[in-house]
Amino acid sequence: MEDSNNSNRHSDRRQSYRYFSRPRECQFCTDKNLKIDYKDYNFLKRFILDDGKIRPRRQTGNCARHQRELARAIKRARHIALLPFSGEVLR
Ligand SMILES: [Zn+2]
Repeated sequence: MEDSNNSNRHSDRRQSYRYFSRPRECQFCTDKNLKIDYKDYNFLKRFILDDGKIRPRRQTGNCARHQRELARAIKRARHIALLPFSGEVLR
């Protein structure tokens, strides 16, 4: 067990850089009070990148079902101009 820890050591740095603050479980499954609401764009903003893209599941840690719901909410929010479309230049 200590052996595998040692061999992982040098790849740790890169991992923590790529997967920052990734929750271990889907936060919507964990917290039943969390609701995916397309009107709540301050909340949805946590799930998009700076350039407006939806954050990939490996970063958000969401399960497939909630990630899909989230994507739908974000797309709906974009449609009514609460969120930027991906690729849109923000300046
Ligand atoms: Zn979930």
